[in-house]
Amino acid sequence: MLERPALGAGRAVPFAGVPHDLQVSLAELTRRRSRIEHDDALAPVIRVLLAPGDERPLRDVLEPWLREQARAAIQRRVELRGRELGIVPTRLAVRDQASRWGSASRRGTLSFSWRLVLTPPAVLDYVVVHELAHLKIFGHGPRFWALVRRHVPGTDAARRWLREHESDLRAALD
Ligand SMILES: [Zn+2]
Repeated sequence: MLERPALGAGRAVPFAGVPHDLQVSLAELTRRRSRIEHDDALAPVIRVLLAPGDERPLRDVLEPWLREQARAAIQRRVELRGRELGIVPTRLAVRDQASRWGSASRRGTLSFSWRLVLTPPAVLDYVVVHELAHLKIFGHGPRFWALVRRHVPGTDAARRWLREHESDLRAALD
């Protein structure tokens, strides 16, 4: 495996499918909490302003922020696509699922990996539609795939993208 720089030392972090420069600096002395800003105005940047006294490793500062962004992005997508499919999940969970990007339970709960916020929006969209579709059709039979493909013509490309990038996504903050 290739050597790669540590987080915060010039390594890009993927966000919505775009590599973002990670800029880390010290916040004003009066700041009690670290802050993260996302800025795409000139170039894609994630700016981390560390509060004095915040001694967490960078990944522990970044991950909660990425989880919040993931929850917001996934929630918006679930609402929009849920309306199209006529499905309202009973509960939405965002976690770090070890082996899956999303899952659906028969009680109507949808769970997603926060790492989907690292992927291109079309990939996140596909996973959302996939899990919503399971609330109509459990299992991966032909009827299930027909429903998913009707709503996401780029289904095969999204699945391929996830397969090809899975290990990068898992290691994005390592
Ligand atoms: Zn499935």
